[in-house]
Amino acid sequence: MDRLWTDFVNSDYHDWRGGERSEDRLGNVSWQQDFLNRWQLEAPVPASNEEESAMRSFRDDLQALAIRLSNGKLFTEKDEAWLNDFMMAGEVIRQIITQDQQLGVALVPIHRHWAQVMAEVAADFAVTLVEGEGKRIRSCDNPDCRWIFYDDTRSRTQKYCDDKMCGNLMKVRRFRAKRKMHSNEEKTKT
Ligand SMILES: [Zn+2]
Repeated sequence: MDRLWTDFVNSDYHDWRGGERSEDRLGNVSWQQDFLNRWQLEAPVPASNEEESAMRSFRDDLQALAIRLSNGKLFTEKDEAWLNDFMMAGEVIRQIITQDQQLGVALVPIHRHWAQVMAEVAADFAVTLVEGEGKRIRSCDNPDCRWIFYDDTRSRTQKYCDDKMCGNLMKVRRFRAKRKMHSNEEKTKT
């Protein structure tokens, strides 16, 4: 399932079929608007050039950290300070809200700018580490895809972002590679 932070990191889109459609969607106006809508966040669209480059470097660092943790590396004090820095820009107030006829207390963002959005992304990543485990963070095993996701299966064995898409594609590739090997063996025999 997509989380706020994985959705943000995956704006660096790789064509999982290995084609030409890979693109960095972060600077894309429609991606920016859809992203804000999906997560009920507010910021000016399009983001300014400075905001866009700040977000890109934040995203690339977050992606690198996620991959490090997925490889079993520890979450360091330096990582902690780095995340805290980004979260600090996202001030919130407490507010009673009604959702699905249930009363709740929500932390409502004060600012409507991209630094606030990055703070929300950083906080969602922090919650993933607090409530889950860094080791469950995965990068899709299809080398063309590299989609970042959180493995919430009981067995912790999810290798592909989507078994029907990348899983099947890799199965077909393995099958073809095997068949090719076989036919080469046949050739050397004769
Ligand atoms: Zn994938």
